[in-house]
Amino acid sequence: MARRRRIYEGKAKVLFEGPEPGTLVQYFKDDATAFNNQKRGTITGKGVLNNRISEYLMLRLAEIGIPTHFVRRLNMREQLVREVEIIPIEVVVRNVAAGSLSKRFGVEEGTALPRSIIEYYYKNDQLGDPMVSEEHITAFGWATPQDLDDILNLSLRINDFLCGLLLGVGMKLVDFKLEFGRLWENEEMRIVLADEISPDNCRIWDAKTNEKMDKDRFRRDMGGVAEAYQEVARRLGILPEGGPGDVAGPKTMQ
Ligand code: UDP
Repeated sequence: MARRRRIYEGKAKVLFEGPEPGTLVQYFKDDATAFNNQKRGTITGKGVLNNRISEYLMLRLAEIGIPTHFVRRLNMREQLVREVEIIPIEVVVRNVAAGSLSKRFGVEEGTALPRSIIEYYYKNDQLGDPMVSEEHITAFGWATPQDLDDILNLSLRINDFLCGLLLGVGMKLVDFKLEFGRLWENEEMRIVLADEISPDNCRIWDAKTNEKMDKDRFRRDMGGVAEAYQEVARRLGILPEGGPGDVAGPKTMQ
């Protein structure tokens, strides 16, 4: 196979030039990092599962009219996406107190929040992704007030939809992180959902037992990480064809 041009390599994914202009191939790795790269590891089969989970959730979101960068899944570890100009903001939506919110405000993990809380972080590893306000975002020109309006509305719709979808299969959406991009079509610009939605960037708990089914199992050395991701996929009805043994998938790709 011809070598493809590598556009960007992140912590959990690689982006390659796509087959047509305006497209990219998003490759999901098994690598995991936490605490701004200080903790590193591998979760066998994670890339395969996240590729499936993110495909599934992006398709369901597209069905309710959320514009996304997702085009189609290509194989076990790759999906075709539209090339977008990523807005350098991480949007965190929270329904239940956990992680940095619990730490910052001394709220016990698991406390239901009276309403969903949206937070913004500036995507910058060197600065440790500092939390920012709308004022910072518009003053520094990372997004316009109109972009932010779209981002907020989309994030709340995504949250409502995903909460219901997951609760329907026995899971609680505690919090999650989204990224958005600008997609230019003719002279028009649209804000679309980008990146991925998977247990790498969501906190998902079992609805009955509150057992963690996400990357916190890796962050907190709880074990059973791959099994938890698998269980999320199983409940969504999308475990890869060959069953659990199939998830390691092809290792080489170039
Ligand atoms: N998150 C993420 N990438 C980041 C930071 C957070 O995907 O760089 C997700 C994380 O998985 C969780 C939510 O955003 O679902 C809120 O994370 P939090 O601010 O509590 O930070 P953490 O405790 O993960 O450091």
